[in-house]
Amino acid sequence: MTGAPALRGPLPPGSTIGILGSGQLARMLILAATRLGLRCHVYADAKGPACDVAAAMTIAPYDDTTWLTAFASEVDVVTFEFENVPEATARTLAERVPVRPNPDAFRIAQDRIAEKSFIAGLGLAVAPFASVYNADEAKAALKKLAAPAILKTARLGYDGKGQASLTARSDAAAAWRRLGSVPCVLEKRLAFKQEVSVVLARGVGGTVAAYDSPQNTHAGGILRRSIVPAPLEPAAQVRARDIAARIAAALNYIGVLAVELFDLGPEVPLEHRLLVNEMAPRVHNSGHWTLDACAVSQFENQIRAVADWPLGDPARHSDAEMLNLIGQEANAWREIASEAGACLHLYGKREAREGRKMGHVTRLLPKGTRG
Ligand code: ATP
Ligand code: MG
Repeated sequence: MTGAPALRGPLPPGSTIGILGSGQLARMLILAATRLGLRCHVYADAKGPACDVAAAMTIAPYDDTTWLTAFASEVDVVTFEFENVPEATARTLAERVPVRPNPDAFRIAQDRIAEKSFIAGLGLAVAPFASVYNADEAKAALKKLAAPAILKTARLGYDGKGQASLTARSDAAAAWRRLGSVPCVLEKRLAFKQEVSVVLARGVGGTVAAYDSPQNTHAGGILRRSIVPAPLEPAAQVRARDIAARIAAALNYIGVLAVELFDLGPEVPLEHRLLVNEMAPRVHNSGHWTLDACAVSQFENQIRAVADWPLGDPARHSDAEMLNLIGQEANAWREIASEAGACLHLYGKREAREGRKMGHVTRLLPKGTRG
């Protein structure tokens, strides 16, 4: 991916940031950028919650070179709200305008096989896994890793979609076919103590601003709740940050990176205790609490990083619990709005479909309340 023009110095207020994607993450990025006097131009294949707040938008297919070229000429830098950007799209843009983070991060994060191999290659622990390209390999992998296990499509999974849970009695070949006979990974199901994540911003010069790690709870494959601080002793916090910072540095990353970790618990020696589940080369749902519990949120730090501004202080002034409002749960907006210490965020989606993230609420508590 050569030929990418470089930015020279910080983008002054009034500059335009291009954002691929029109969902709630783009919307919150735009709100943060707008507060800093920066404009945002959304490029997406369909209108979404970000379009209500964008200064400009292009609604066109992600593979339309004509529209991409026009978009590139109107923005000063391009960033993304989602990792499944087609490689050709990222390349087309990167030839014309600085793209941050660099498209390599997407290439790796889009594919669980590439991602796990990359992370393991850095000497970091991941769950035992095997790549699966056909039905026989699915069977062999289940035998080798032993149930319980999870078969995951290598590409295009999110919110637990594209996954099959396998027991010793499961027909792994049939499960692989049900997932569409596409490349997959089979992963050992881990009996972890908790899930935590690291959300950090890495700036142009390699400076890092890392947020305190939240503990994340999933229900039905979807993030339900993040509480911060996670119950992690200082040494484990530091280790978690170090893992994420190493991944970011290896990618020469610019922007916000999220790394999801499985914590096997304090009985396990520190070097083996935290396993990387996956990374997201973007702002992350487990960092939404930073909007209300930190002076500078993950969204603002993503904007600062891609615009080459100094990164903002990620320190937390409060303890926090972030709860996603999924589907009809957002109908409780009136009660939440009347609750002390509750910070309500609604994404402006019209239809409350099942499993759809409609908003979130962050409940703040004085720092130290959670220990
Ligand atoms: P998201 O978009 O929410 O990050 P995803 O579809 O990319 O999800 P994963 O993060 O791989 O999928 O898995 C979703 C959740 O399923 C994890 O957060 C975890 O709770 C559970 N899970 C995934 N892999 C394992 C594993 N190997 N062992 C135990 N639980 C797992
Ligand atoms: Mg995940």
